[in-house]
Amino acid sequence: MSGTGGRHAYLAAKSEADNYNRELQREQEEIDTVPDVEAAEIADILSQYGLGPAEYGPVVTTLRNNPKAWLEFMMKFELGLEKPEPRRALVSAATIALSYVAGGLEPLLPYVFVPRAEHAMAVSVAVTLAALLFFGFVKGRFTGDRPFLSAVQTTVVGALASAAAYAMARAVQSI
Ligand SMILES: [Zn+2]
Repeated sequence: MSGTGGRHAYLAAKSEADNYNRELQREQEEIDTVPDVEAAEIADILSQYGLGPAEYGPVVTTLRNNPKAWLEFMMKFELGLEKPEPRRALVSAATIALSYVAGGLEPLLPYVFVPRAEHAMAVSVAVTLAALLFFGFVKGRFTGDRPFLSAVQTTVVGALASAAAYAMARAVQSI
């Protein structure tokens, strides 16, 4: 769970959404300005699936009478573009925020606010574990994994990584 990976995913999701919206606008303009051309494209597409005029005729008429469905049909079948899931961008943004918090900031906070070092260490561990549990649960909720399993997995991996980092820091200090 690196901040860089999360940010990367977020930017990819955002540019996918931007691209979709740009194409959506362009396609809507085509439907508005050259509806007959776009209607002929429906017929074209459906005939590629083996439908004859008698079969695609009613579909063309139905779509022409339903502008929203028409636009969606053109996006999907003429341009091959699926509507991006807005949740993916949100999850990526949340991943960045939470991975920065869980990975970087949170373990340091207790050292700032708790004066005695040995207490600070215990508070730091507790806060980090709580943040990892929370992060794993939220991640599971959004990605469709089982939230509790995701929470436990994230916490175990995060705790092992933290322990390794701590051990390395101790080793470096003792040199
Ligand atoms: Zn078109």
